[in-house]
Amino acid sequence: MVIPDFSGRSRLDACPGALQMHSAADGGLARIRVPGGRLTAAQLRELAHAAAAHGTGVIELTSRANVQVRGLRSETGAGSGFADRMARAGLLPSPTHEKVRNILASPLTGCDGSGVVDVGPPAAELDRLLCARPALAALPGRFLFALDDGRGDVAGLGADAGLLPFGTGEAALIVAGADSGLRVPLDAAVPALLAVAEAFLAELAPLAARGTTVWRIGELPGGPAPVVARVRAALGLRSGEPVRLRPAVRGPVGVIPGRDGRAALGVTVPLGRLTSAQAEVLAGVAASGEVRLTPWRGAVLPGLTRPETETAIAGLRGAGLVTGPGSPWDGVSACTGLPGCAKSLTDVRADAATAIATAATAATVASGSGPGWSPRSESGQRPPAGSGGRSGGEGRDAAGGGTLPVHWAGCERRCGRPRGRVVEVVATGDGYRVDLDGRSLTCADIEQTAAAVAAGRGEK
Ligand code: SF4
Repeated sequence: MVIPDFSGRSRLDACPGALQMHSAADGGLARIRVPGGRLTAAQLRELAHAAAAHGTGVIELTSRANVQVRGLRSETGAGSGFADRMARAGLLPSPTHEKVRNILASPLTGCDGSGVVDVGPPAAELDRLLCARPALAALPGRFLFALDDGRGDVAGLGADAGLLPFGTGEAALIVAGADSGLRVPLDAAVPALLAVAEAFLAELAPLAARGTTVWRIGELPGGPAPVVARVRAALGLRSGEPVRLRPAVRGPVGVIPGRDGRAALGVTVPLGRLTSAQAEVLAGVAASGEVRLTPWRGAVLPGLTRPETETAIAGLRGAGLVTGPGSPWDGVSACTGLPGCAKSLTDVRADAATAIATAATAATVASGSGPGWSPRSESGQRPPAGSGGRSGGEGRDAAGGGTLPVHWAGCERRCGRPRGRVVEVVATGDGYRVDLDGRSLTCADIEQTAAAVAAGRGEK
């Protein structure tokens, strides 16, 4: 297969890395890829120290289970202090491939017996082979791999190339976020994922010649079909009945019993922001020496004994992290907002925190005295009463996971919006507009916004 050289394409890949930082309103932003979301406790500790020494001291968790650090000074390149520290910590193993190591893996894999196969080893193998193939450094930084262990948690998160194993020794090959219908033996799964990536690059060649830039398989003019056809022809894979994938909307929280008397502890990180002090605590209670980041901007500590679990819960709670279900922070995400993003109309993170603090008001609304939902008008303004709104309090998560997720955004771009059904809170300049299922409420202040969010999420 011929792999094109995209070094001359018309639009540079602007995804940040540790070596190529993004210049944000609050300084340099570096993103460090964490394949499978897996960090050693020592790596997390070093991240905390480096974030404090070179940036704002906050580690942001991303929806790809990567991390980013903001407020970095203008230092850049392989000689920069921050990048040097990441490299020494083993977090920058391939300068040429650093931005293409976007690999999701089921965070609880191998912990609790719910999956079909432990995808930890194949995720590490995929990372190794990806970095070993020079041509794959040309993948766009937005290209995403996902290895689901069979429980269906990361299979529906929109990966360009992914796996969903069955109990039959085979896996569905996911292409562009959907089951391609191709079936691959588990022992050939990693080569199949790499074949998808190579087929994508081959499809990009004629587009690049015309000056067209495409970042994801789903953006190809012909859709994913040519990529699927190339992979089928190259590997001789059989076909099966495609299965429907659903995005999981929240990660594991609380104690998850596992094997050998050990448990995993799922941790909610409020708004996906870990302070350096919180990261140090998290690293300190990771008794197995491992911390797994999740695509829901949380973390999992695997392999804890009962006493270790109790110690971890006490330490994490003391640091302001959430170790059980039912927290008002559960399922709440926000974009960067001010001061980090110059496009933002407000400090959405601060507003989201204020809204959470007004939970009593929200509960009153959800009990029946709150606002009704109206179909969204073109202007985003609330239409007149009687134009078709429904009562609030119906926004339950169809997957049975409790209330709906909510995402706060400082402008209409809604960066970081989770996949699936989500209550969206969008800054308007005069307050917020709360959107759900094509209906909206325009809110002038945080109290109204909090009430509308509670009603939309279905909180009781
Ligand atoms: S949604 Fe808008 S305000 Fe928020 S990070 Fe994206 S561009 Fe910035």
